[in-house]
Amino acid sequence: MAVDGSRLRAVNARDRNFTPVTIRRRMEQVDASIERYLGMLDTADRQESEAAELRTARLTTRLDELRRQMRELEVMEQAVAASPDRQISLTDPDARAMASAGTGTGQVGYNLQAAVDTGSHIIVAHEVVNLGHDRTSLANVGRQAREATGTDALTVLADRGYFSGPEVLACEAAGIVPILPKPLTSGAKADGRWGKQDFVYQLTSDTYRCPAGETMTRRFSSLEHGMTLHGYATPACRSRCTMKANCTAGIERRIKRWEHEEVIEAMQARLDGMPGAMQVRRRTVEHVFDTIKDWMGRSHFKTRRLENVATEASLHILAYNIKRAIALLGAHKLMAAMQA
Ligand code: SF4
Repeated sequence: MAVDGSRLRAVNARDRNFTPVTIRRRMEQVDASIERYLGMLDTADRQESEAAELRTARLTTRLDELRRQMRELEVMEQAVAASPDRQISLTDPDARAMASAGTGTGQVGYNLQAAVDTGSHIIVAHEVVNLGHDRTSLANVGRQAREATGTDALTVLADRGYFSGPEVLACEAAGIVPILPKPLTSGAKADGRWGKQDFVYQLTSDTYRCPAGETMTRRFSSLEHGMTLHGYATPACRSRCTMKANCTAGIERRIKRWEHEEVIEAMQARLDGMPGAMQVRRRTVEHVFDTIKDWMGRSHFKTRRLENVATEASLHILAYNIKRAIALLGAHKLMAAMQA
C-alpha cells in the first residue's frame, strides 16, 4: 500500500481563520492603517475648505471602522488563546489552517489520508483529519488497510512527512511493515561536520564507533517528546582527537539513540533494498488525489464539520473505487462479484 495525505479546502475563507500569528499580523496591518489615516487627518485639519471638511468626515469614519476592527481582533486574540489548539475557524469550526504540500501556500481545510493498493490503485482505507501534518497518521491508516484487506503481510510506503519513531514502532507492533525515509535533520551535517549517519552502532557492545575509530559508550539517558534517548560519548574527544574540527564545535561529540532505534535501522535497510519504493509510492497516490480533486472541481468541500466532511470524502472515494473496479473488471463482473 502507498499511504499519502492531501490537503483539501474547507468552506472557510482564510480571513475567517484565526491563529496567534494571523491575529498579530492583522493587528499590525490595522495599526499601520490607523497611523496612515491619522496623518491624512492632520493634513486635512490644516486646510480650510469644504472639500477638506468632507475629507475629514470620511477619514474619521474610516478611523472609527479601523478602531472597531482592532477591538474585534483583541477579543478574538483572547478567544484563540483560550481555545485548545489556539486556532479558531468561524465558518467551519473544525477546519484548520494547513500548508499545501508543494506549493508552500496555506489554506484552511482538512487532510485526507488514504492507503492505496499499488497494484490495483484501489483506495483500501482512508480517514479525514484536521491536522496540518502526517506524522501521526501512518499506523492508524495502516491498521485500517490491514483490516479492510484481511492480509497478514502488509507493507506500507510513505514519504518522509510521515516519519515518526513511535508510528514506525506502532506499525511493527501491528504486524505492518513500514517503508519510508527518515528526514535528514542533522545540524552538524548542515554545518559541514559529520552527521549521525557517519557513526556506526555496534549492537553487541551497545556502543558507537566514531569516524576517528574511537568507541563511544553509553553515558546518559533522557526523555524527549515522550521518547527515551540514550546518549553516547568518548573521552577521546577531549584528549587526543585530531579530527575534532570535522566533528563538533563543542567540548565533545554526543550521539543520541532512541531506545527502539533498531526498528528505524531495519526500516532504512528495507528502503535501501527497494530503491524504487518512493517512485512506486508517488506513481500510486498522485493519480488518485488528482482524480478526486478534479471531480471536486478543484474547489472546497461542500459540507462543514469534520463528521460531514468525512462522509463527503467517503462518497468521493466510493465513486472512485467503483470506477476503478469497473475499469479493472468490467461492470458485469463487478456486479456479479458484489452480488456473490
Ligand atoms: S571529536 Fe570525538 S567523536 Fe568526533 S571524531 Fe573525534 S573522537 Fe570521534
